[in-house]
Amino acid sequence: MRTRQRLHALVSLFLPLAGTLLTLARLFTQGLLAADLGLLVLMYTVTMTGVDVGYHRLFSHRSFKARSSLRALLAVCGSMAAQGPPIYWASNHRLHHARSDTEDDLHSPHVNGEGQRRGRLAGLWHSHAGWMFGHTPANPIRLAKDLLRDTTLTRINQLYYLWVMLGLLLPTALGGLLAGTWQGAWSGFLWGGLARMFFVQHATFSGNSLCHFFGSRPHRTGDWSTNNLWLVIPTFGGAMHNNHHAFPSSAFVGSRWWHFDLGGGLIRLFAKLGLASGIKVPSPEARLLLATDSRDTAGP
Ligand SMILES: [Zn+2]
Ligand SMILES: [Zn+2]
Repeated sequence: MRTRQRLHALVSLFLPLAGTLLTLARLFTQGLLAADLGLLVLMYTVTMTGVDVGYHRLFSHRSFKARSSLRALLAVCGSMAAQGPPIYWASNHRLHHARSDTEDDLHSPHVNGEGQRRGRLAGLWHSHAGWMFGHTPANPIRLAKDLLRDTTLTRINQLYYLWVMLGLLLPTALGGLLAGTWQGAWSGFLWGGLARMFFVQHATFSGNSLCHFFGSRPHRTGDWSTNNLWLVIPTFGGAMHNNHHAFPSSAFVGSRWWHFDLGGGLIRLFAKLGLASGIKVPSPEARLLLATDSRDTAGP
């Protein structure tokens, strides 16, 4: 179990890193092509939507209801980000919310499994990616019964590695078709495949690390979650993490237009298209209860 976990962490972290370094090196020799940038943006949008709207807001928090076709599509797109299968991800995330910044949290930058304080750098590394090399996964039978009952989702969950491969094959094929050369296919693999995977992973992971460490805490949440406006665009709004911890079942994380809640905007769009319904928002009373006049409330 631990060996498989370490292998997944090693391959899913260092292969995209190596691919990104290679992509940057090629940037100096070959310049930036519109097709490469287009594939990066397209695949980033597709897979970040899968993680932020699918894995996070839909499966982990049930903040809206989606038609079965949309649920399946979001689960596949999220799997292509190589952050683990959807039920594993959602179980871990539900545990994070239930036991945030305590010894039971899988990735607190502040406290270790024995409840002792972590050093700043060690805590940041652990919460960002270090935890993936050795953790006891949250129990889905206890935490994600509803997801286990969804037979389509469990099937997609079992085929996780197939979707990861698809996430690499799609941009490779598109790059090859656009350029009409093998060189174009290789470029698509690097930009839309590995580099995209690297950027989506680290944007997502910053929610566990930076957004429990630096930033403002306008709401009393009993943990160290923070808002980081500078990170909202790459995280599709997820970096308004203190807002999210205050109202975890809300489909929206931004309260002002400049919070750029892209994930929330996509849920609105899905609702307009008749693919989403039952969108949850916090009541005005709940907002009042958790709001403070301080921009930087003390943590737990
Ligand atoms: Zn959090
Ligand atoms: Zn959450």
